[in-house]
Amino acid sequence: MKLQYLGTAAAEGFPALFCECDTCRRAREAGGKNLRMRTGLLVNDTALIDFPPDVMAMMQYRGIRFSAVRDIFVSHSHSDHLDVEDLVMRRGPVFCVIENDRPIHVHMNAMSKQRLDEYIPYEREPYDGYMRITVNEYFKTYEAENGVRFTFLPADHAPKEQAGFYVIEDGEKTAVYANDTGFFPEETMAYLKTLSIDFLSLDCTYGPRDLDRGHMGIPANRRVVKELREAGALKADATIVIHHFTHNCGLLHEELEREVEKDGFLVSYDGMIVEL
Ligand SMILES: [Zn+2]
Ligand SMILES: [Zn+2]
Ligand SMILES: [Zn+2]
Repeated sequence: MKLQYLGTAAAEGFPALFCECDTCRRAREAGGKNLRMRTGLLVNDTALIDFPPDVMAMMQYRGIRFSAVRDIFVSHSHSDHLDVEDLVMRRGPVFCVIENDRPIHVHMNAMSKQRLDEYIPYEREPYDGYMRITVNEYFKTYEAENGVRFTFLPADHAPKEQAGFYVIEDGEKTAVYANDTGFFPEETMAYLKTLSIDFLSLDCTYGPRDLDRGHMGIPANRRVVKELREAGALKADATIVIHHFTHNCGLLHEELEREVEKDGFLVSYDGMIVEL
């Protein structure tokens, strides 16, 4: 399984769009891995988790080919995970030309679909000609065209909607890609404990701060890992990644790396590829 982090920041980006705080200033000066776009994960090049507002930059500056994406799995309706305006640019042949084009499949919760439906730029041509929408249900598994299965689990985030994250399985490896969640809800934890996890990616919005509602920081990440490890759900050689950072964490990439060195966690950066 090939996993590629397209972006690793929270909604405001890192450095943040309008921000002049010390962390953003240091991140701008240092550049490199400290420049983080909003989050998205490419799975085997043809399935995508989340559709952030930075897809255009990812295509133009990083050579990501979104025309190859056949399935999109959205975690929740927040703007850093779903850019409805750019999603409708998939409409061919006006905005894109793809040989033998067929509708793509987009999975999202009800609130995300509502956002999409409210944004109808071309009323006479609805989007169902080029993308089919499935409204996700918790604990249900959906198979992408590339054969990879995605199971949608409840997150502790945005209580007004069914925010969630995904377990990704290809028959050989099991990956958990969890962003925009506080410490996992009980039912989610119970489900994860039935798995044998090769890869775990955790929300680390708060960096070193000990907060665990809505998002997590490193101390909460450690508690998740400990609980899954004690339950035998995490393989001994599992890859553990922290991601979805904001300037509020106060740390640059290398400082985050030092913070979790003893834990053996990897600090994600934009473009990072993990092969399982
Ligand atoms: Zn987010
Ligand atoms: Zn800042
Ligand atoms: Zn969110």
